[in-house]
Amino acid sequence: MKDLKHKPETVVEIQEYLSHLYGEVNKNRDVEYLFSYLFRNVSYLSRSIPRELNCVQNFIKTFSWLFAIANKLEINLQDSYLKKYPDVCPYCIAKPCVCSKTNKKPVSYVMEWKIQEELGFKYNIAKSANPNPSMDSLVESTNDLYPANTHIWKASGPTFHFFRLLEELGEVHEAYTSFCKGTKNRAEIENELADCFAWTLSAWGIYYLGESLQDSFITYYYNSCPVCNSDPCSCEPYSDRGEMLVKIDELRLYREKVAELIKAAPDHNDLLQSILKDLEFAEKQGSTTVAVSAVKQSDSALEKLSGELNHADSSAKSIKSIIGSANAIVQSFNWFS
Ligand SMILES: [Zn+2]
Ligand SMILES: [Zn+2]
Repeated sequence: MKDLKHKPETVVEIQEYLSHLYGEVNKNRDVEYLFSYLFRNVSYLSRSIPRELNCVQNFIKTFSWLFAIANKLEINLQDSYLKKYPDVCPYCIAKPCVCSKTNKKPVSYVMEWKIQEELGFKYNIAKSANPNPSMDSLVESTNDLYPANTHIWKASGPTFHFFRLLEELGEVHEAYTSFCKGTKNRAEIENELADCFAWTLSAWGIYYLGESLQDSFITYYYNSCPVCNSDPCSCEPYSDRGEMLVKIDELRLYREKVAELIKAAPDHNDLLQSILKDLEFAEKQGSTTVAVSAVKQSDSALEKLSGELNHADSSAKSIKSIIGSANAIVQSFNWFS
């Protein structure tokens, strides 16, 4: 992306850029492969948001897998979104949506053909008013249309939001399998992808209010594919970097930092030797559960040790500093929670 004079500015340009970057490698991957990564990123997003972690990467990856599925099925995601959400809610035909009062229908009776005509009319207006929206303008219009999403999130947390997104993911899969069976057409998949897209756009707008999703895309892809740094991507299948499973090299880095304490705090040799043995055991096991438990115990034992240090002792400062660095390493572990 850094070599591009014209950086993607619209949803369509982002989808085209991702098609250029991943179109070739995804040719040999089926939709189920792409869907499994989409699902994984949504689940990690739903786990990271309540903990108020930095979720930019999970957001961008979630959107990217949505675009990957759209590209694979030759669906224009922006157009699918506008068809489904042409600046009015497709169920109550209102802006902002009043579905919570009307139980997902118009305020007064409207013939079904009239609703469809109205949506088509609104789609044409929305398209001519802003034919090339950016990701940011879709974030804004989604949350303008559904202000209740923000109210519910602020009052009771993001659980409901992610429950809905999860439901939509299931519907994307069903629409795809029905399409494969020949019982539903591609429009059904477009419709469900648009829902996933809308819930994710809305989540970004609530969690990162005022921050540019468009710019975050460019930052994420600035050096092309963030895994292989090639343009187009040349990643082998399953070459993701992993997030939630223990990374042994990170664990080793932590153990080496703790080992520095042996010299600095000889009075606590027994405790430190036990911790180091445990961390070595965890490294050999390679299990995330064992690693998380060993690091948790070590981290709190060191915190306790730090609190008990006699400040008059000249070595206390350097011991505290090593413990502080060890804790900073722990904080950088994605897989540690
Ligand atoms: Zn509505
Ligand atoms: Zn790559």
